[in-house]
Amino acid sequence: MNDFRNNPYYELFSKQSINQYAVGNRSYKERLKTLNKLQQAIEVTYRTQIQDALQKDLGKPVVETELTEIYAIIGDIKFAKQNLHRWMRKQNVDTPMSLLGSSSYIKYEPKGVCLIISPWNFPFNLTFGPLVSAIAAGNTVIIKPSEMTPNSSHLMAKIVADVFTEDEVAVLQGEVDVSTQLLKLPFNHIFFTGSPNVGKVVMKAASEHLASVTLELGGKSPTLIDKTANIDKAAKKIMWAKFLNCGQICVSPDYVLIDASVKTQFIDSCKKWLQTFYNDNPKASDSYGRIVTDKHFERLSSYLNNAKALDAKFEVGGQTDSASKYIEPTIISDLKPEAKLLEDEIFGPILPIVTYDSLDMAVAYINSKPRPLALYIYSKSKTNTNTILNNTRAGGTCINNSVLHYTNHNLPFGGVNNSGIGKSHGFYGFQAFSNERSVMKQHTFGVTELLFPPYTGFKEKLARLTIKWF
Ligand code: NAD
Repeated sequence: MNDFRNNPYYELFSKQSINQYAVGNRSYKERLKTLNKLQQAIEVTYRTQIQDALQKDLGKPVVETELTEIYAIIGDIKFAKQNLHRWMRKQNVDTPMSLLGSSSYIKYEPKGVCLIISPWNFPFNLTFGPLVSAIAAGNTVIIKPSEMTPNSSHLMAKIVADVFTEDEVAVLQGEVDVSTQLLKLPFNHIFFTGSPNVGKVVMKAASEHLASVTLELGGKSPTLIDKTANIDKAAKKIMWAKFLNCGQICVSPDYVLIDASVKTQFIDSCKKWLQTFYNDNPKASDSYGRIVTDKHFERLSSYLNNAKALDAKFEVGGQTDSASKYIEPTIISDLKPEAKLLEDEIFGPILPIVTYDSLDMAVAYINSKPRPLALYIYSKSKTNTNTILNNTRAGGTCINNSVLHYTNHNLPFGGVNNSGIGKSHGFYGFQAFSNERSVMKQHTFGVTELLFPPYTGFKEKLARLTIKWF
């Protein structure tokens, strides 16, 4: 038996553990009230402070903060409020003949005390998004935000302390050691968003207590463009999706896989759209962000150096400035298969272009890598689209667009294997933080009682008939 009393966070964990039933038994109206309080804090009270924090941490333009952080969370809250009554209701299920005299239903009950570990790239969205699902489902929550975006983490702690009591929701700031200590505690559910490598650490720790996990991970999301695609429209959407948040998005198009015959046309269109979006000098553009830390800047610079050393072709960009952690929007082709850019998840503003001669080759290339979080298809051909959909696996797919499937609350969001386990958003997020408790109620005499011991010849016959008929 583990003794948790020496764990620095045991006291907080215990408080939430004791409080979990009071929180879990709150009515629909009370949960609604909590969601409203959080909405008011984000939409009104702290809105400008959120913009400032993200400007300091990531150089995030205000419009991007409004759309990808504030609007995203408010959208989550509104959707939960609209649907919560239905989600919380018990779901009656059919009763088979063999259970005549009973009725059954599913009760969505909170998992209990939950841990949310979040990343830095959309600090508010990826912390408060899961939090909305967790509190809608009636849980208590400890949050460990990323240490890479300290202004955002600090503000999140302030917002949470303003809206919740600490036996309900609490934020613990700090380095990796905070997560390590937290992961030793017997949480009922762990919701982790981050890299596949740390996802493995989380899952290993969760297995100690058999805590359930949702792992929202990353990886290399391919963007396939066939020769039937509207190349100019594809380039416009891909240039937006790739360079949004400086490419630091889990569902960012990681690399382009394009029919060799339309490569030049595509690159020309990309140049045109980059010029339109960021002018000739993206460094001076208010619409372009920065790399989060020196460490990530170094990592991305080393990818560029590796590509140069392997004689790759820089189609666009390649300039960097370490002082401001700036990396120019960059497109690179003619990469050797061993190039780092084709191996690691890029998570930055560099887009490698890989060409293919047949769709089978493209599918084989995608399937030679771990299953991605997102796979984008640009094509006007139904046959080609179906070939790709049916012969690959991915967490999600946009056809003739990128990234935006993430924003539909009616779709489950998440990866598959290396890109994640479990789903989030809307009902799927509520479900991730709920235990689907099976309840069967016996109303009258149950026919199964006819089969109780002692087992006579008659009962043997009855058992056979049951198997045959019911
Ligand atoms: P990360 O895995 O390095 O860190 C995520 C969180 O885990 C942070 O809070 C960090 O403090 C904590 N952490 C780091 N090392 C740890 C350890 N050894 N033990 C316990 N906790 C640890 O990820 P990141 O750099 O913050 O984010 C980038 C990654 O996240 C990319 O792979 C990206 O694709 C992925 N991501 C996925 C989604 C999604 O929704 N699927 C969203 C955003 C980012």
